[in-house]
Amino acid sequence: MDYRSIFETAVAQLKEERRYRVFCDLERDAENFPKATWRDGTGAERPVTIWCSNDYLGMGRHPEVIAAMQETAGRLGVGAGGTRNISGTNHPIVELEAELADLHGKEAALVFTSGWISNLAGISTIAQLLPNCLILSDALNHNSMIEGVRRAGCERQVWRHNDVAHLEELLAAQPKDRAKLIVFESLYSMDGDIAPIEAIADLADKYGAMTYIDEVHAVGMYGARGAGVGERDGVMDRLDVIEGTLAKGFGNLGGYIAGDAALIDAVRSYAPAFIFSTALPPAVCAAARKSIQILKTRPDLRTAHQRQARTTKHALANAGLPVMDNPSHIVPVFVGDAEKCKAASDLLLERHGVYIQPINYPTVPRGAERLRITPTPLHNDALIVTLVEALVDVWTTLGIPFAEPAQAPQADEAARCALPELKRAAE
Ligand SMILES: *Cc1c(COP(=O)(O)O)cnc(C)c1O
Repeated sequence: MDYRSIFETAVAQLKEERRYRVFCDLERDAENFPKATWRDGTGAERPVTIWCSNDYLGMGRHPEVIAAMQETAGRLGVGAGGTRNISGTNHPIVELEAELADLHGKEAALVFTSGWISNLAGISTIAQLLPNCLILSDALNHNSMIEGVRRAGCERQVWRHNDVAHLEELLAAQPKDRAKLIVFESLYSMDGDIAPIEAIADLADKYGAMTYIDEVHAVGMYGARGAGVGERDGVMDRLDVIEGTLAKGFGNLGGYIAGDAALIDAVRSYAPAFIFSTALPPAVCAAARKSIQILKTRPDLRTAHQRQARTTKHALANAGLPVMDNPSHIVPVFVGDAEKCKAASDLLLERHGVYIQPINYPTVPRGAERLRITPTPLHNDALIVTLVEALVDVWTTLGIPFAEPAQAPQADEAARCALPELKRAAE
């Protein structure tokens, strides 16, 4: 058996399909976020600006968050030392879970080593505990949710993305007293669109279903205290299970679910991915908690985040770049070709020091390849000007199609983001 050639062939196939992934070797500069150093593989070190981080608010470099981690590591040491049941429950993780329960207005919360694991363990365990459960899953759910649904092993039906009429059709076909779990996301991170959460909660009530929502791309960033779109829309109390991450808007590591005490206690007691894995380090828990606490009281950071995202969208659109419109902080720019998407990303990095990872199949469908830009409050107007100029150069160099000229009259805000205006304002 030629084992080695099997692996080589598998990788060669990905290269053939233009979806072989290459790491970008970065060193973030905590004091000058979003600046970083890029090691290009030839031994050279080059300054770059990161435009595709999921540390959406720059909390990963917040001085108080760093201090919380350093202080806790100094006092408690680094690793947790065990699973939650065998010596790994250090006090900072207990405090973190209380903080999360409070954030979401729920009785309890449970922390996992990642958001991915929290979905895998949360969805599968809840569905396995419900007799003859039917899972109703949105068609564009994240891989971690799909894995959770798969692992549950029960019947599953997929409803068309954000299509509540289709969801209702599927629900109505079931006996009212059958256990049903609706799993969906609040904010879909590749298109930046937002689910009709209230309408879904209405259907759950009407047909006797439970709701499980992934707020990974919204926690920290939406709602009065940063609890997500459910909070913003005033429907958080109608969601049975809220899942989130500590690794994106909160800038740390880990995932969680929040819900009724009985449900959380059951998942805690039955989920192998929780029971048999070492707990998060106490310093990470303390840092994540500090980040949540800060964001509970900083709506100004959320406002600044939304402003920079909108300014980026307007500035790109004004320059004729094909921004895919959406109501969130995600700024996708359409390329529609795997090869060109990768080439655009390479050229941005090499010629302009702008780092934006290409998004190709299977993360998005073939033909929908794009650059996904995530401005933070720390991407100021001057950086946005640099970004727009770099993208225009790359689009021109590679012959990527620009957008059709906009038909509608410009809104005031959009006009302010025309490049000359933005440049003047940034100087
Ligand atoms: C990133 C992501 C996760 C996983 O969270 P991690 O903490 O990064 O493991 C879960 N759901 C969605 C929608 C995500 O985008």
